[in-house]
Amino acid sequence: MSISRGILWVTSGPSGAGKSTLLGRVLALYPGTLFSVSATTRPPRPGETDGVEYYFIDREKFEKMIEEKKFLEWAKVHDNYYGTPLAPVEEQLAKGKDVILDIDVQGALQVKEKEHPDAVFVFIAPPGIDTLRKRLEERGTEDEEKMAGRLRTARWELTKVGEYEYVVVNDDLETAVLDLSAIFRAEKCRVRRMKDMDFVKEA
Ligand code: 5GP
Repeated sequence: MSISRGILWVTSGPSGAGKSTLLGRVLALYPGTLFSVSATTRPPRPGETDGVEYYFIDREKFEKMIEEKKFLEWAKVHDNYYGTPLAPVEEQLAKGKDVILDIDVQGALQVKEKEHPDAVFVFIAPPGIDTLRKRLEERGTEDEEKMAGRLRTARWELTKVGEYEYVVVNDDLETAVLDLSAIFRAEKCRVRRMKDMDFVKEA
């Protein structure tokens, strides 16, 4: 039996929507799923490790990777480059493993334009802009100016929710975990992903 390709989960949502916590919880339910580690020119925050949250690289190296077409998608977010290295994603999908991308809306739209056959688009939204502001303040990693920038970006990103196939509102974390897991399960049951199953071939 040939292996069905994995699912490419394209998730986006404003910083402070609680994406990382939510994705971490759902990833734990689906061992074998790869979380794609992006490259970025943003400096690491305290506690971040190269190769874990991101590959922290300089601008020159990033631009060389763009030129060499080594990204599935890339974008400039808050004055820094962010991009998804293409090779590990493709390798994993070909092996039948699912891959999760946590990327901004500009990047998600690039993947959508390419009509990637394995992609499913999920937007993770905060319950409202006020909650977002509060969460960013609690995180305390941004100064006032950067925070205003992030809120501006968040407002713009929220206008793009219609480009996605699913939206999970992260108000109560446990409910959001249930919602996102339900989407994962449903996508895995799609008939179009079943072509390699024995019962389909035998019928
Ligand atoms: P942060 O600096 O807070 O880690 O991330 C800022 C934004 O960049 C987030 O919205 C995050 O989803 C996005 N981002 C992270 N990695 C990538 C990537 O590889 N490509 C794109 N387009 N956006 C990314």
